[in-house]
Amino acid sequence: TPGSTLTSQEVVDIVRTTNYGTWRFQKSWNPLHIVDAKDCTITDGNGKQYLDFSSQLMCSNLGHKNPAVIASIAAQAEELAYAMPGYATTCRAELSKLLLEILPPSLNKFFFTTSGTDANEAAFKIARMYTGKTKIIARYRSYHGSTAGSIAATGDPRRWAMEPRGKQQGVIFAPEVNCYRCPIKHTYPACGIACADYLEHMIRNESDVAAVLVEPIVGTNGVLVPPEEYMPKLRKICDEYGVLLIADEVMTGWGRTGKWFAMEHWGVVPDILTTAKGITSAYVPLGLCATSEKIGAFFQDHYFSHGHTYEAHPMTLAPAVATINEMRRLNLVDRSAELAPYVEAKLRELKAKHPSVGDVRGKGLFWAVELVKNQTTKEPFNTYSDKVSGTPLLVDQIAGKCMADGVIIQAWVSHFVVAPPLIVTREEIDRGIATLDKHLALADALVEP
Ligand code: PLP
Repeated sequence: TPGSTLTSQEVVDIVRTTNYGTWRFQKSWNPLHIVDAKDCTITDGNGKQYLDFSSQLMCSNLGHKNPAVIASIAAQAEELAYAMPGYATTCRAELSKLLLEILPPSLNKFFFTTSGTDANEAAFKIARMYTGKTKIIARYRSYHGSTAGSIAATGDPRRWAMEPRGKQQGVIFAPEVNCYRCPIKHTYPACGIACADYLEHMIRNESDVAAVLVEPIVGTNGVLVPPEEYMPKLRKICDEYGVLLIADEVMTGWGRTGKWFAMEHWGVVPDILTTAKGITSAYVPLGLCATSEKIGAFFQDHYFSHGHTYEAHPMTLAPAVATINEMRRLNLVDRSAELAPYVEAKLRELKAKHPSVGDVRGKGLFWAVELVKNQTTKEPFNTYSDKVSGTPLLVDQIAGKCMADGVIIQAWVSHFVVAPPLIVTREEIDRGIATLDKHLALADALVEP
């Protein structure tokens, strides 16, 4: 904060003792004091610089301190900081026009929120109001948000803390799509995409199914890229049974995977698309729930029973317009696709070199490096249970070493997420991967024959 007289240590102490550190035991929280961020570089309170190798939470796609986005925030604050959602604003119209250009043409009715979580909450309510049905089929190893509905639809251990007390009725889980560790023990391509058949089996054996909810490429839980045939097959199944398909593109949207939206990789258009993060490159908090023309038409004469005070907040919409314009000017979606083979080749070298690397996978500038004790048995060093019980995780230890060497990389249970801002240079990619390469020695030493 300009003008603050607090020392860096005071900042950390005040924040640590008065705020909750999320998804963790509080006693282990010792946050870094960040004072500056520019392009792909973060600076801490002691002046030390770090390469942001995961775009913070896979959201700072444009990189930090983009002048056009900053100017849009200042200009919007001067012009009109807030108007209640029942009004039309110019930035709302400008952003809607851009979305009509970028999204598939059938997704043409928008609801603006302030996070990915509440974009998904809106999607669930809309799907239930539209279909008159209740159940959402989500998948294990997914993350869809932290509040009641979205945590209930989350297929990873972040849901466990809410059970059994508050489990929301109406969500059932299909097996995740994970060709490296197939939960139904099949091998691609001989499997014929049995995971999609299993999901169809679920729809046939359940009543009251409103929607199937997927992260097109599972994000936090391991950058799980589905086989080429999966999404088209899922679209067909949903159409056959009259079930909506919801694509949660909170993390995969906005060029992260080398397309504006990941569903484009398979030419599949969902009925509802949710997104957040990269829509403003995280300069301000904005989420979006985009629905199909058919759903939009339904609410012409059905009550749209949803809304927020901060919905379509002008301070969030104007920077989204600037972000999209900057992404276009800098051609960042193509850049993400063009850099993918470079990152992939480097990560494949990493795998060839380290016995502790079980798998590398991804698309665009969105990659996972998964660690294993043994490449044949694929036994992981840590599991979800370790995560929620506070057992120290090997990946966190390695990420800590990388941070000491000036590279910030996200670690989750047993993998790292390589997802730098889309403006990253090849030199920065080299530096980030070389740092990980150096500290993977820690895992190699623990590999079991
Ligand atoms: N959906 C996905 C796929 C996500 O990755 C996230 C956040 O990481 C969310 C939803 C929740 O978004 P938010 O943290 O903005 O509430």
